[in-house]
Amino acid sequence: MNDKTEAGTVGAARRLLVLDDDAMTGETIRRIGEFAGLESVHTASPAEFFKLVGEWAPDVIALDLLMPEMDGVEVMARLSELGCDANLIITSGVGSKVLNAAGLSANGHGLNTLGVLSKPFSPAKLRSLLARPRQHGEAHRDVPRRAAVEQPTVTDLRRAIDTRAITVVYQPKIFCKTGTLAGFEALARWSFNGKPVPPDRFIPLAEENGLIDDLTRLIVEQALKWLATVSEDRDNSPSTGISEAHLSLNISARTLTNESLFRWVVSLCDELGIHRHRLIFELTESSAMGDTVAALDTLTRLRMQGFNLSIDDFGTGFSSMVQLVRLPFSEIKIDKSFVMDSGVSSESRAVTRSIVDLGRSLGLLSTAEGVEDQDTLDYLQTLGCDLAQGYFISRPMKDVDVPAWYCQREEAREAFRLDSVRDSTLVGSLPERRFDRITQLARRLFSVPSSLITFLDRETQWIKSGSIDSDSKMPRDETFCTHTIAVDDALIVRDALVDKRFSELDLVRGSERIRFYAGHPICLPNGAKIGALCLLDRVPRDMSGSELALLQRLASMVESELAVAGSPDDGISQDILSKGALRERAQTTLELAETVNEPIAVILFTLDQLGDINQKFGRAKGDRCLKAVAVAVNRIADPSDLIGRYRGGEIVVVRMNATVSAVQDLFRECQQALEELSATLSVPVHALLSMAFLEPGKPDALEAGIEEARASATGVGPSLEGKR
Ligand code: C2E
Ligand code: CA
Ligand code: CA
Repeated sequence: MNDKTEAGTVGAARRLLVLDDDAMTGETIRRIGEFAGLESVHTASPAEFFKLVGEWAPDVIALDLLMPEMDGVEVMARLSELGCDANLIITSGVGSKVLNAAGLSANGHGLNTLGVLSKPFSPAKLRSLLARPRQHGEAHRDVPRRAAVEQPTVTDLRRAIDTRAITVVYQPKIFCKTGTLAGFEALARWSFNGKPVPPDRFIPLAEENGLIDDLTRLIVEQALKWLATVSEDRDNSPSTGISEAHLSLNISARTLTNESLFRWVVSLCDELGIHRHRLIFELTESSAMGDTVAALDTLTRLRMQGFNLSIDDFGTGFSSMVQLVRLPFSEIKIDKSFVMDSGVSSESRAVTRSIVDLGRSLGLLSTAEGVEDQDTLDYLQTLGCDLAQGYFISRPMKDVDVPAWYCQREEAREAFRLDSVRDSTLVGSLPERRFDRITQLARRLFSVPSSLITFLDRETQWIKSGSIDSDSKMPRDETFCTHTIAVDDALIVRDALVDKRFSELDLVRGSERIRFYAGHPICLPNGAKIGALCLLDRVPRDMSGSELALLQRLASMVESELAVAGSPDDGISQDILSKGALRERAQTTLELAETVNEPIAVILFTLDQLGDINQKFGRAKGDRCLKAVAVAVNRIADPSDLIGRYRGGEIVVVRMNATVSAVQDLFRECQQALEELSATLSVPVHALLSMAFLEPGKPDALEAGIEEARASATGVGPSLEGKR
């Protein structure tokens, strides 16, 4: 049976064996088990317990951690020796820290743990554990328990390596936010006498007997060759994502000091044309700790050569923090024991959350492994965890199964994307100032003739903002953006004429003569990629690292706008923001101004006599005045300005790259507009005009700037006084 379809079904008559010295608790658990449809037996005697384990072969074992005759940890060690295949529920009143540690130790013994249960427990909790999907005892179907196989010897292993009988399976990793494929982890598989030997068994055997380097070479060679094959011919392959995928390789501590092995990896990469940044070496915490100096040397060198490094099983070792800060890791892999338990254990959730936070603060990508259900994936998304790996996404697969898995997954994702795009009702919608502002900023900041926000439905690319001479929609196949949304990073096309994927496009060959393209995918709040923010130019060009970061920042500004349902206006006009909406956008604009080192100013238009107008001519008239002024400001302001209503009769403009002379021009135009308005509305419309530069680092810089502007305001336009 195929790995990934190996869901396993629960037979009707499963057996639950309870070992608890406390008769009452033991009986309660037994009864709950019975009620849940399991044949259940309770015993207080370890001797009888082991007899039953042997003869009755329970599917689930509920084990008390603290017992007078033999403690639960000893029991677990025995169970492991016996190769027990049952699913373990560890129970105790010792506090959840100890319980979780015991859970880890059970995993360490290679036992299947269903979870831990701290006493006193609710029947519901126990029932939910009994109903957990791993209860079929086949979590490791591809890797059966130790005693289930005849113990292979070192000689067997040696022979297996020599005859290349050890193969590789691949388990995908995805980006949590979008679900895009990120890469694969290569995992070793060995079938001895027709039965699989778990890697947890033969890897240590190889390590202890000096075979690990040969084994590593065997795995790395197969995996790299596979990667090279799937990366070939990416232009014509429907599996673009695979051809860009990265590959994670497990490296033992002992291998770290083997310089020649890494030299060999480098030359193999070069030979196969694999970019080093696509490889991630995974090291377990404990392994990174061994011979620290030598390890540090190797790791630093590998990073300098462009490889990525991951700290594996994070959270289970010792002095993890020290290692993490000292060694040049690029990724942190949260141990599956925490991830798998995050649905039921608040402590596991806390550990997971703090590892994600830690990774973020150290600038490392975080990967959660052992993701077994949608809820866990959703939870990781809310934490901002970068990547996910686990049975829910896919079990490890044979190389031949990968393309079909990928295509099927991509089809499902595209269907989801199309549904999301349709539900958003954005496709074909009218231009909006809030989006135009961003493309205007992009055009100016990158000095490109054109910047677009595009939305892609099944067959068409729609232009939401910005323009090129062609239509606002075009066949999707003939666009750059259709490639942009295939990945999560930016797509940079230095010169479209020399890129096979694009050189024949109408945009390139036709009157547009586009040569350079840079696009960043933009996502709806549910992670579906609706389209892209792009830059176009008629000359080839490069993008620096900081320019890429800037593009990403602008793309996330677009995403923030997409997250707002409809226009965040204040009832005046869809282009005039409410105070809250203005403040939010002012903050991101301030940060943007700071990164590109541009002055940013607030420009204030105050209808100081609005109250008098309301009184004298009625509120409706007052409202009309305010609206007319806002509309006038919107017309004369720059398309990249932020415009909002602040308090009362205040209209605020936030402008990047502001100069005093340009603002004075704006004031002059405003004065003229006010005079015209006064005539059309037959009310004297008088305003106070002022400006102030903002200090980006300052807390509440906008408010401070507005205060400053208020203090320096001078009046323009016909005053009500004169009419009195
Ligand atoms: P690891 O590096 O932590 O690899 C992840 C293990 O978790 C794999 O077990 C994988 O099959 C399993 N796994 C992935 N997702 C889930 C999930 O959702 N639920 C559960 N219950 N398990 C999940 P596997 O393949 O048995 O490998 C065990 C360990 O053996 C690996 O742990 C790694 O430390 C070691 N290993 C495997 N291949 C190699 C290798 O080529 N070289 C070295 N040095 N070590 C290897
Ligand atoms: Ca690993
Ligand atoms: Ca791991």
